[in-house]
Amino acid sequence: MDLSEKILKLKKEKKAVILAHNYQRSEIQEIADYVGDSIELSRKAAQEKDAEMIVFSAVDFMAESAAILNPNKKVLLPCLGARCPMAQMLTVDEIKRAKTKYPNAPVVLYVNTLASCKAHCDVCCTSANAVEVINSLDAETILFGPDKNLAEYVSEKTGKTLIPIPENGFCPTHLLFQPEDVTVLKMEHLDATVMVHPECSTEMRKVADYVGSTSKMCRFAKESNAQTFIVGTEEGILHRLRKENPEKKFYLAYEEAICPNMKLTTLDRLYTSLKEEKNVVKVPEVVAKKARASLERMFEV
Ligand code: SF4
Repeated sequence: MDLSEKILKLKKEKKAVILAHNYQRSEIQEIADYVGDSIELSRKAAQEKDAEMIVFSAVDFMAESAAILNPNKKVLLPCLGARCPMAQMLTVDEIKRAKTKYPNAPVVLYVNTLASCKAHCDVCCTSANAVEVINSLDAETILFGPDKNLAEYVSEKTGKTLIPIPENGFCPTHLLFQPEDVTVLKMEHLDATVMVHPECSTEMRKVADYVGSTSKMCRFAKESNAQTFIVGTEEGILHRLRKENPEKKFYLAYEEAICPNMKLTTLDRLYTSLKEEKNVVKVPEVVAKKARASLERMFEV
């Protein structure tokens, strides 16, 4: 029995469900019950009534959200070191300082934040629903963190003023994409459609035919008549795109765009974590209660 088979057997015995982010290694995506972006997985985590345990193959803030939404389930993060650097860029103090400066502005936080920060916002959003969340608010000036690029994109789409907190939060992986690389690839693939994630820079968004979250990119690729795509998001998405569209061609806009934190989850680590039920993610209830309210407000939108 190979490691994947052992995990699947153990998963059944322990009534566990495995959720994997689109940026996970292909072999992790293959054994997962659900593969998706943070909103798809947050929903799945909230809907998994029968599972006793959730193995969240992703990074810290996503597993924290699953623990917040499922206080009665054991949530495991196969590698505790899998942390999102962007989520670490925002602190509670930073939010408090911004609130003092803009007392009437609501605070909207991207789910890529730690639970302690989510407990200090009015509503959360993901890259898939950020525009809808901002449009749902009866305010023209909004504090938004931690991704400055997503803030700029949403501001363009909604016409509202988004004040970034911190001033310059970013995803180090998405900032690796450069428009020059797209130009070179376009010379090789003349008919290619360019789709990029809103965490990319403004310059990358300008050369894109489509801007969207990973779930939106998957839908767009399926529904589009285009046969060739240049993709501006983390490498792991290619597995899902190719699997769902075997007749189409996908090229990463920059081959080194790999999030090292997402790749920390390996089959070995997942197996050990599930077998020993270790790396349980816990959020203190006093924090979880407030953070849950911010996540639930997002689901309402
Ligand atoms: S891809 Fe960027 S935002 Fe996503 S986990 Fe990695 S560093 Fe964080």
